[in-house]
Amino acid sequence: MSRLPHPPIRRTKIVATLGPASDREGVLEKMLKAGVDVVRLNFSHGSADDHRRRLGEVREIAERLGRSVAALGDLQGPKIRIARFAEGAVQLTEGALFVIDVSLDRDAGNVDRVGCEYRELADDVTAGDRLLLDDGRVVLDVDRVEGSEIHTRVVVGGKLSNNKGINKQGGGLSAPALTDKDKQDLKTAMEIGVDYLAVSFPRSAEDMLEARRLLGEAGKEIGLVAKLERAEAVADDETLDGIIEASEAVMVARGDLGVEIGDAKLIGTQKRIIKHARSHNRAVITATQMMESMIESPLPTRAEVFDVANAVLDATDAVMLSAETAAGDFPVETVEAMNRVCLGAERERIAQESGHRIHEGFERIDETIALSAMYAANHLSGVAAIACMTSTGYTPLIASRIRSGLPIVGLAHNPLAQRRMALYRGVISLPFDTSEMTADELNDRALERIVSHAIADIGDHVILTRGDHMNAHGGTNTMKILDINERHLGK
Ligand code: PGA
Ligand code: MN
Repeated sequence: MSRLPHPPIRRTKIVATLGPASDREGVLEKMLKAGVDVVRLNFSHGSADDHRRRLGEVREIAERLGRSVAALGDLQGPKIRIARFAEGAVQLTEGALFVIDVSLDRDAGNVDRVGCEYRELADDVTAGDRLLLDDGRVVLDVDRVEGSEIHTRVVVGGKLSNNKGINKQGGGLSAPALTDKDKQDLKTAMEIGVDYLAVSFPRSAEDMLEARRLLGEAGKEIGLVAKLERAEAVADDETLDGIIEASEAVMVARGDLGVEIGDAKLIGTQKRIIKHARSHNRAVITATQMMESMIESPLPTRAEVFDVANAVLDATDAVMLSAETAAGDFPVETVEAMNRVCLGAERERIAQESGHRIHEGFERIDETIALSAMYAANHLSGVAAIACMTSTGYTPLIASRIRSGLPIVGLAHNPLAQRRMALYRGVISLPFDTSEMTADELNDRALERIVSHAIADIGDHVILTRGDHMNAHGGTNTMKILDINERHLGK
């Protein structure tokens, strides 16, 4: 078996949400230095100017540090919320009757009733449905619907405050994924230059195709991320696979998904989504409450350590931080803890072994080269890295669907391809401009880059993939096994 790189290079990528906490003086730079690979701009909070300013700072710091950091814009989607209470909040007691009235004045809520701006809610629910408010902290069972009024009984009581979210257990709320606000934010995201765009609450592939249409020609390079957070999106393999294929990446959006399908089903569903995404050659992000206690504490709980580790062992491409880095007291410590835990989990054997597509036929030449390179790298001793010269990042993506302990170096010239690879597990993205190089020089220059980044050393093998024509998409047709020697120490 091949040896492990030294020092260890983290394979699992870290997505961190930006917000007031990361805006504090010096924090963003420390977060990036601690290992953030992808920043999330959450369009549920903040203004267009906030997002533009934050992304500008990220690009400036990344450039200075010589890092490829991707930006993920995240659309709010049709999150259904109750309206407001005259007093700001009420206390609901178990067994009490409570009405959600979609025609009630938006600030007129009290202990008996509250409004809801999503008027279709009254059509979407019927007697017997269970509604989960505030991420499931308050549970209401529907007794009957009369016109605009949904009459419920409180099953689990507690404090309920303004604008809390509503989910229906089992799913089935009809709102389409893209609201008018999302369409506006999609334009903003394109204009400020995100690399990935997340669509919240898609019901099926159609919602993703709609987002793709809205992005149009100008946004065709933006990778779409489907947030799997509705029960119907994961209810059967056909719907799940359809959404995966209509996207460049998916997110296991455990916050809303867990409320809709329940925590018992969430466990297997996370594993199933990761497996399906990888086998369809798509990247996958595992999200929400991964280091939740670190919003207020400098250390994670043991349960959080193992949650992150399990997602790594499930073979997720990336783990995500939400309020921990956007609004918490310890954003930098949280990234450091996540980095540590990922590295620890990646040492486990099952994180490095793969049976991916081992019994399958291949159809594409570039995929065959990518997979053959991984097979060779995982079996030949003395290999330090796989290096892929790529114009779009596709070959490294395919290679990284195979588990391995070895780094995959993506050598691309296009900045967007460089940043896109920041999401892929095990891929180190290094800028590589071939325009001034002769064909003979390419291999040596690639090895020099790798040595100068301390990824390989004299005497190591590097497995290189490339095409005959460096800039042609899908042109990868060659795999070479090269040795590092003195001549590569130059630069
Ligand atoms: P959110 O999505 O943070 O935008 O709600 C993620 C989730 O629901 O888990
Ligand atoms: Mn969500």
